Amino acid sequence: AEEVPDDHPRHGSLVTRHRIEEGVEKGITSKQGLVAQGRGEALDYLLGEETVPAAERAERTAVARTLLADHAVVSVNGNVAALCPQEAVSLAEAVGADIEVNIFHRTRERLEAIAEHLREHGADEADVALRGLEADARIPDLSSERAKVDRDGIYSADVVVVPLEDGDRAEALDAMGKDEIVVDLNPLSRSAQTATVPVVDNVVRAFPRMTEYAETLASASDDELREIVDSFDADEALHDAERRIREGFGDGDTR
Ligand code: ATP
Ligand code: MG
Repeated sequence: AEEVPDDHPRHGSLVTRHRIEEGVEKGITSKQGLVAQGRGEALDYLLGEETVPAAERAERTAVARTLLADHAVVSVNGNVAALCPQEAVSLAEAVGADIEVNIFHRTRERLEAIAEHLREHGADEADVALRGLEADARIPDLSSERAKVDRDGIYSADVVVVPLEDGDRAEALDAMGKDEIVVDLNPLSRSAQTATVPVVDNVVRAFPRMTEYAETLASASDDELREIVDSFDADEALHDAERRIREGFGDGDTR
């Protein structure tokens, strides 16, 4: 990739963008993934490209919920694989979750390219099951390709971490009774609105922070974890994030 000068005011954003471009070149990320990236960048700009307090609360809650799960799965698509493969593996390992490759524009080549990319970024050595290649079950009431999941993965999970999930699938997973941790920079998207725990943050910042929370909460009792989950208000978190975005429009700041 081209060099991004360290002192560029939007250094982080440009580095991230290059990772998505490389993802497309390697056959990991779909072209539609570029569009999703652009939408994410616009919203992240308005959030000041930082983790807002509502997102911090949501991330801690998400980890508490995941640690309480019987079977948690971190869903990885082409954008997540390109942006933060190693961070996805670390998070799954820290919370005791599986990873499932689950993509919207599904081809065998892309599935395998993503799985290979994850293996190159630690999924092989980590104590994490890598799923998504069996596709031996279906999410009910969802059109064909997007519905394919692993029976021992997302299909049977009680908690699914879904970064950048499409709204229809988020609703269908919700209808299956799953608790969803949605990481999405758009607090108005159906995915975020459907979430048990909506994390309005860039996945690049959210996953490492969630892994840290997993380490600090590792010794917490189930009662303590449940207390964290029960005191979380999803609507309030969404409203707080939305307010920050509106302020981003209105404060006259030039970033
Ligand atoms: P729907 O209403 O079906 O949920 P959508 O408007 O959310 O559709 P998609 O393209 O399905 O559109 O989802 C992409 C979402 O992912 C957008 O909301 C975008 O803001 C978000 N997004 C993109 N990049 C990131 C990122 N790095 N971290 C977190 N969220 C991101
Ligand atoms: Mg969405």
